[in-house]
This record gives sequence, structure tokens and C-alpha cells, in this order.
Amino acid sequence: MKLLGYVFRVILALAAAAAFIGAVWSAAFYITEAAAAALHWQPHPLARYLAASYLGLILFALASAAIGLLTRGRQQRSWQALQRAIQQMARGDFRVDLPADLEEQHHPLARIAAGIQDMAANLQAMERMRQEFISNVSHEIGSPLTSIRGFARALRSGNLSEEQRLRYLDIIEAECVRLSRLSRDLLQLTVLDADPHAVRPAPYRLDVQLQQVLLQLEPQWMDKKLDIQAVLEEVVISADEHLLDQVWLNLIHNAVKFTPLGGRITVHLERRDDRAVVTVSDTGPGIAEEDQPRIFERFYKADRSRHRAAGGSGLGLAIAKKIVELHGGTISVQSRPGEGAAFTVVLPLRPPGSPPAAATAGES
Ligand code: ADP
Repeated sequence: MKLLGYVFRVILALAAAAAFIGAVWSAAFYITEAAAAALHWQPHPLARYLAASYLGLILFALASAAIGLLTRGRQQRSWQALQRAIQQMARGDFRVDLPADLEEQHHPLARIAAGIQDMAANLQAMERMRQEFISNVSHEIGSPLTSIRGFARALRSGNLSEEQRLRYLDIIEAECVRLSRLSRDLLQLTVLDADPHAVRPAPYRLDVQLQQVLLQLEPQWMDKKLDIQAVLEEVVISADEHLLDQVWLNLIHNAVKFTPLGGRITVHLERRDDRAVVTVSDTGPGIAEEDQPRIFERFYKADRSRHRAAGGSGLGLAIAKKIVELHGGTISVQSRPGEGAAFTVVLPLRPPGSPPAAATAGES
């Protein structure tokens, strides 16, 4: 297809050149004829032929020079526009708008112009994300600090009952825990973003890991008298155990956090071909349909009023998604408001690109 286009363009250029030469020599011929008639000049045919030829050459040179000047001017303007765009981007202003004629097809600079325009659009999007991120982080840091300051002031006022004093101290402690969790989560996301090879896979039993995470969270689900069901097939996976710990902790912790007293949480693990499928479902309030595509975004909280009391920063699912994707897997949610939520993680039993023998070594 590309070759066909190239051949077509060459034929077009040759035809244009032939038409141009034809037009110039015809003009030279008619001018010579008209001049001879006007001057009543009856030269030898050879002299007439030579006169027309010389005139043709002169016209050809003049027309070529004029065309060259015109296109050079246009090309110079295009280069200058590109240069200005690059300088503008170097100053940190990514609102680059290159002239439309630069984007014309087959223009020699068109590809560079399109590349610069794309780069500017991507940098602009990244800059917007960066600003949004900073504003989210300052909000997440600002609100616990305001709360800590308020309760510290109240404590200083003195005329408080012992019960009030203890409650305020509990709140201050909870806000501090929230802040340190936020800093830990931010650090983890930064590390994962910076190093796509942060995954250190090794074979281990996924079912055992899920059991351990459930045990680790026992105090929380016991407090809420939750019914925990674990249906775990024996599965050996080659993955980063430490990172996946975080995924299961975040998912099961959310399930415990959002499920009301006496509810049920089910953790299900099965092997499907060369994949492990883990589902964490609960009987909590579920997630509204419009929120479902967004809950994996950084700082996104579906129900802000309820969430404030729950104390999350909206980073848990973003971290889980990042880790799962680094393992070549997927994470999704199925939920109907009022009927609970089910999070499904599908992971390859071996990380992408690993030699099959390395991973099967530990399988039972
Ligand atoms: P956080 O760390 O603050 O809990 P997440 O990223 O884990 O934030 O969760 C993002 C949003 O998804 C939360 O606002 C919460 O409303 C919603 N969510 C997550 N898990 C559940 C669940 N099991 N049931 C209902 N809502 C949930």
C-alpha cells in the first residue's frame, strides 16, 4: 500500500514536470511567433527554432526560481513555527497550536509537526494530572491536620469530661494513623510508578496467602461479627508475594470496612487454565453504577460522606490495580447498590515473559 502511494506520487510529480516544461516551451513558441509577426521578421526556420528554445530556457529558469522562492519561504515559515512550538514547550507551556497547513498530507514536515502536537497534548494531560494529584494530596493531608488542630485546641481548653478527653485523643490518634497510611500509600505508588520491574516473582501457594490475610484481619471482622467464608482451591502461583499481600489486604479490608454488622464476606479462589481467579464478595451497600468505572482511580471515593468516617484515602484500589496490572492480570468489580460488591482479580499463574519451566518448578 505504501509502495503504491509512493509510485503514484512519483508518476504525479513526473506528469506535473512534463506539463510545466510543455507550458513553458509552448509559451516561448507563441511569444517568438507573436514577436516575429509584430516585427514582420521572416527568419530562417533554424533561427526561429533557436530563438524559441533560448526564450524557453530563460522562461524555465525564471519560473523555477519563482517557484523555489515561494516554497522556500513557506518551508522557512514552517520551520520557524516548529522552532517556536519547541521553545514554548521548553518553557513549560504545552498549549501548542501549529498552523493547519503544516499538518497537510505529504508535506515533508507534516510528520514532525504531528509528533510535536501529540507530544504537547500528552505533556499537557500529564501536567493536568500532576496538578490534580497535588491538589488531592494537599486536601488529604489538610483535612486530618485541621481536625487534629481543632481537637488539640479543645483539649487545651481544660473543662472537658474524662470521657470527652479520651474520645478527642482517640480521634487525634486515628487521624495520625490516617496520615501515616496516606504517606505509606503514596510512597508505594511512587515506587510502583517509577519501577515497572518492581515485581520479584517466586512460586508460592496463593490459597495459603489468602488464608493468612484473613487471619491477619480477624480482629476487625470479629469485631463486626462477620461471617467469613473461604472457598480456596490449592493454587501455586509465581508472583511477588509481598506485593500481592497488599492487594488482598486492600480488598478484604474494604469488604470488612463496608459490610455492616453481622454481614458475610466470601473469598473464593479457583484455577482456570493458566490463570488464578480470586473473588472477594461482601454483603455491604454495594457501589453505584456510575462510580464503578472510577473507583480504581487515585483518590476516588464513591461515597464521600460515608467514607469520611471510614477513614480511607481512596488509594487502596488504585494500588491494587497497579500491582495486579504489573503482574499482567486484571481487576474488576461487579456490584448492584444494596446488594453488596464482588471484586474479581484474574492473575496469570506465571508473570508475562517468564520461561514456563521456572514457574512450574514449585507447582504441586
Ligand atoms: P480507600 O483506601 O479509601 O478505602 P479504595 O481505593 O480502597 O479507597 O476504595 C475506593 C472507593 O471504592 C471507596 O470510596 C469506596 O466507597 C468504594 N469501595 C471499595 N470497596 C468497596 C466495597 N467492598 N463495598 C462498597 N464500596 C467499596
